[in-house]
Amino acid sequence: MDDCLFCKFVSGQIAPDIAYQDEQVLAFRDINPQAPTHVLIVPKTHTRDASTVEAADGPMLAAILNAARAIAEQDGLAGGYRLVANVGPDAGQSVFHLHVHMLGGRSLAWPPG
Ligand code: AMP
Ligand code: ZN
Repeated sequence: MDDCLFCKFVSGQIAPDIAYQDEQVLAFRDINPQAPTHVLIVPKTHTRDASTVEAADGPMLAAILNAARAIAEQDGLAGGYRLVANVGPDAGQSVFHLHVHMLGGRSLAWPPG
């Protein structure tokens, strides 16, 4: 996707602040962090959002969760963390390349706004 910001991060055309990467996923620090750890974990292959994920994407989803575990160890999030995927306008999605927000390093209220 030529006009997709997160595809440009994956290709290296633009350099984000990378927290973790492997063959399937890239994770980088959010530019507007909402917690001491606020990382976006994205698949290296473009897909629009969680509603366009299919059963065959199972390994990619597992890679996202594996990345979160690795980042939690790296950032010392022994107290836990939250994973969030916004889908569509009601959830406030603003970038249309699937990304899972990983938030941690402080106590997180529930329910979210
Ligand atoms: P969402 O609103 O769920 O689509 O999340 C998009 C996220 O991308 C927001 O938290 C933004 O702060 C973040 N974001 C936008 N541009 C950048 C960027 N250049 N580098 C890192 N994070 C970004
Ligand atoms: Zn993309």
